[in-house]
Amino acid sequence: MQGSCLCGAVRYTVSGEIGQPANCHCNQCRKQSGHTWASSYAPEDTITIEGAVRWFAASDTAKRGFCPICGSFLFWKDHSEDWMSFSMGSIDGPSGLHLRAHIFTADKGDYYDIADNVPQRET
Ligand SMILES: [Zn+2]
Ligand SMILES: [Zn+2]
Repeated sequence: MQGSCLCGAVRYTVSGEIGQPANCHCNQCRKQSGHTWASSYAPEDTITIEGAVRWFAASDTAKRGFCPICGSFLFWKDHSEDWMSFSMGSIDGPSGLHLRAHIFTADKGDYYDIADNVPQRET
């Protein structure tokens, strides 16, 4: 699987086993992405990144990677885990994946409803 940011300065490939994606409704993801943030994940050492990613730590536990040129929000990494998340919107071509959950729905915005049958988790 391959992905890239909007301007193409950051590209990545994933060679390891990929988990099914979740759509996060937390405040941090909504602030950074502009709405909810759908991402999948794979072992960090199977994700090869080309280009200079800028990292931002919104909390002590995790960091968020984005393109410093176009601003695409690409990666999320919990320091205590050996896997890393990458955004569904950055994947080039069909993903072959399907949303498994809505997460942090307790933080969701009041301007939309979650109207599908995908399982929801409040945290
Ligand atoms: Zn870019
Ligand atoms: Zn989130």
